[in-house]
Amino acid sequence: MLDVVVSVLVVSLIAGALALILVISEGVIQNYGQCKITINAKKELTVEGGRPLLFSLKEQKIFLPSACGGKGTCGVCKCKVLSGAGVLLPTETPFLDAKEQKDNIRLSCQVKVKNDIAIQIPDALFAIRQYQATLAAAEDLTYDMKRFRFELNEPSTMDFVAGQYVQITCPPYKKGVEEVSRAYSIASDPRDHRFVELIVRRVPNGICTTWMFDYLKIGDKVCLTGPYGDFKMSDTQAPMIFIAGGSGMAPFVSILHHMRNTGSARRAEYFFGGNAVRDLCLDEQMAGFQKNLAGFKFIPVVARPQPQDNWQGQTGLVTEAVRRSFKDLSGHEGYLCGSPGMIDASTRVFLELKMPQDKIYYDKFA
Ligand SMILES: Cc1cc2nc3c(=O)[nH]c(=O)nc-3n(C[C@H](O)[C@H](O)[C@H](O)COP(=O)(O)OP(=O)(O)OC[C@H]3O[C@@H](n4cnc5c(N)ncnc54)[C@H](O)[C@@H]3O)c2cc1C
Repeated sequence: MLDVVVSVLVVSLIAGALALILVISEGVIQNYGQCKITINAKKELTVEGGRPLLFSLKEQKIFLPSACGGKGTCGVCKCKVLSGAGVLLPTETPFLDAKEQKDNIRLSCQVKVKNDIAIQIPDALFAIRQYQATLAAAEDLTYDMKRFRFELNEPSTMDFVAGQYVQITCPPYKKGVEEVSRAYSIASDPRDHRFVELIVRRVPNGICTTWMFDYLKIGDKVCLTGPYGDFKMSDTQAPMIFIAGGSGMAPFVSILHHMRNTGSARRAEYFFGGNAVRDLCLDEQMAGFQKNLAGFKFIPVVARPQPQDNWQGQTGLVTEAVRRSFKDLSGHEGYLCGSPGMIDASTRVFLELKMPQDKIYYDKFA
């Protein structure tokens, strides 16, 4: 009997030890100790190993842009890793073309800091800050779009270029929701350094937009980082075509403020696409820009107006409206903002109308 008990005990001990080895080899309780991150061969950070590079940098107040907040679905948080990142992971390859892979570009949300690591990032990223802000106002623009106005508290001002975006941290607000961050283009006047306005479209069951629409209240504190991105008006005098529907209009509102601030007479035609008349918004603000900017024209296009709407404007797809208006866009620049589908369809039309590929600028909301 004792023999049997001893055998069972020995077998259990061996099984336990094997399980522990397995768990350790899976990295569940790996301890990598302290690791050094060297940035641009001039700045050194010491971090606790084992966390994704994106988050280790964030803890040290270096904010790489990331549209999905580290889920590995947007491919935005790229950075060049000079050493120490290990092999390229299958989760990274869909986002990196052959040249980027050859140049050791990696997705910082997928690379874990397991040892000393050396990276290179654009110097401009050192200027990105984390801001404490207060929701000062929220206004319905349509049935599914709101404009949020945040007052910056600490730091109390932000310098940004019209077209850039911020990331907002959405806290856990109901069971099962973890902290996430999402990107939103700044829709306010770049001269207005103390406030940041965002135009947000509700995504059904979306984590961050549900919080912003249903939980965030006037006076609540939020955390923003930014400004990010290089979507902006070029400094040429070429005529411009803007295409964006819904919340894609956010960066264009900021760009139009900038044009007004600088007294720009540059030609800009803004084709705003909506499915129905109820998708249109900011018509008064657009009329104001039209009055103050000699070269600006706002062209709302409604895909399916209802008879009771008594819609007098353009109808059909926004890309069809562009086709109707232009035969040759070889001297124009194109600016697009919104869903990947809209951007791809508009790009095809621009190229058909002979706009050079390198004159098409876009910000994909994905
Ligand atoms: C650079 C950049 C700038 C952006 N600027 C703006 C902006 O100014 N205004 C704005 O409203 N949004 C903007 N976005 C999109 C925004 O970051 C979020 O992706 C969006 O608000 C959804 O977040 P969520 O957490 O509510 O939804 P999630 O919880 O992330 O998504 C929920 C589900 O909805 C799907 N989904 C995500 N987005 C959409 C969508 N737009 N339409 C339909 N389904 C969707 C997802 O695939 C997922 O299945 C921007 C994105 C980028 C990358």
